Amino acid sequence: MDMKTILVVEDEREIARMVQTYLMREGYRVEVAFAGEDGWAMFNSLQPDLVVLDLMLPGMHGLEIARRIRQEARTPIIMLTARAEEADRVAGLEMGADDYVTKPFSLRELAARVRAVLRRTEGTTTPEVIRVGDLTVDLASREVRLRGAALDLTPTEFDLLAFFARHPGRVFTRRELLEALQERTYATLPRTVDSHVKNLRHKIELDPEDPTHILTVHGVGYKFRPEAEGA
Ligand code: CA
Repeated sequence: MDMKTILVVEDEREIARMVQTYLMREGYRVEVAFAGEDGWAMFNSLQPDLVVLDLMLPGMHGLEIARRIRQEARTPIIMLTARAEEADRVAGLEMGADDYVTKPFSLRELAARVRAVLRRTEGTTTPEVIRVGDLTVDLASREVRLRGAALDLTPTEFDLLAFFARHPGRVFTRRELLEALQERTYATLPRTVDSHVKNLRHKIELDPEDPTHILTVHGVGYKFRPEAEGA
């Protein structure tokens, strides 16, 4: 097995070094950039297998780096975000980042996410069709099928479902989901999300009162159940 190269773009040197040391011990080759422009330059010269990307950087913002990477490559990106950067985090996921960890994070957690993302993306491009149990979401044709039967979703319902399906297992707050939908709805009330979820459940769940795909996380928001968690 060849050694994977990871590029860490993080201006807080102490964090960058800790991440580098830990991931090197895990068996990766790890290079570090301390500023946005350097990160972008090193991405191009190294062609890494994965990028750990801080969002708040001097110079070029992390989101801009993510956007540039996505324009030309499917290289997995794990974002490092502060709790206060909720909107950025959603923007980053929309831009194609594969996962994120929130500071302060444990090195063990980051390493687990690195492993998971590498495993998930190895030798694959982004799937155009996501299958979870009885549900099929075709991102390209915007078609959704339940047990083979095509469903009639509104554009907003489709976008919401696609966002969930691309990030299975992650818990999103109503505000985050609203951010993800914002260009389409212009709604500002987090509760708007509840009615979209309710409508969606009536279409994609066999029993909307006992949903198996979009789960309510009490006191937080919603999550899309990945297949691995079973039905
Ligand atoms: Ca920073």
